[in-house]
Amino acid sequence: MIEVKNLTKRYGDKLAVDNISFTVKEGEIVGFLGPNGAGKSTTMNILTGYLSATEGEVTINGFDILEEPYMAKKNIGFLPEIAPLYMDMTVKEYLNFVCDLKKCTLDREKHLKEICELVSIVEVYNRVIKNLSKGYKQRVGFAQALVGNPPVLILDEPPVGFDPRQIIEIRNLIKNLGKKHTVILSSHILSEVQATCQRVIVINKGKLIANDSPDKLSSQINDKKQITVVIEGPSGEVQKALSESGVFKSVMLEDKSERQARFTLEYEEGLQPQKALFGILSKEDWNLLEMKKPNDSLENIFMGLIEKTEGEEIK
Ligand code: ADP
Ligand code: MG
Repeated sequence: MIEVKNLTKRYGDKLAVDNISFTVKEGEIVGFLGPNGAGKSTTMNILTGYLSATEGEVTINGFDILEEPYMAKKNIGFLPEIAPLYMDMTVKEYLNFVCDLKKCTLDREKHLKEICELVSIVEVYNRVIKNLSKGYKQRVGFAQALVGNPPVLILDEPPVGFDPRQIIEIRNLIKNLGKKHTVILSSHILSEVQATCQRVIVINKGKLIANDSPDKLSSQINDKKQITVVIEGPSGEVQKALSESGVFKSVMLEDKSERQARFTLEYEEGLQPQKALFGILSKEDWNLLEMKKPNDSLENIFMGLIEKTEGEEIK
């Protein structure tokens, strides 16, 4: 559905997107994840034909965005980071205006009614946009992207600036849209992408550093073997015993109170840290109060990936 090949964008000397390639299949919801300044908006603006690439190719549903821009754009609904609204128009006037712009040939009244129901803006249809709340404005932005029923939706950081209830609403809306559309959704917020997307493309400093399902990403990065433990006993002695056991690569004292301390233990692949730990504890008669693996949330994975790839760059 979407094919991006060796895409590069320079703003003068500044390399914003560095030779990235990926494809998105029909019906997928793909997250485009990266910290601020990673190149997400630049990429999305190129995919939608708003910006030209310095090098590389983009095709949407088989149409090259440069060679057949009209057909390519007809296949895309775009919600830019700042929704392109005309503040002095009513929602009705604005959406009709968008229909004109997109030369939409669908039964207009029926089509707009369906869209307004889908994004829940029926109740503000006759109001002037500038008087609407932020949440409604964003949904009007969604509505304009849906005009013409494009098979591909490109959404640049959609839930920014919402309250938690609205964020959940927008997530559900995106999931709903994903049933009928191919969706690319950018975000610098990991939980956002995790909540809505089946696949995640991670970019950092213009480079694509990962492209996989959230689950697979997690196993890919999980080469750091760690456990955290809370042990009741004299913290200095406990630390010494753990360090001298020969099982743990590192023993970090994270936190200590009067009679107990929390440690993060790093161990080599294939070793059994629990066994060694219980050996020490029973010998010294110390108590284990807690033991857990650090959670491999997408957040950790993301930071891990960024550190890993930045490390590789330096080598
Ligand atoms: P993101 O959307 O991931 O936050 P952007 O695509 O907006 O990132 O920006 C990527 C990089 O390109 C940033 O370093 C940004 O400062 C730079 N950049 C973006 N737009 C321009 C522009 N028009 N001129 C020069 N540099 C730009
Ligand atoms: Mg951006």
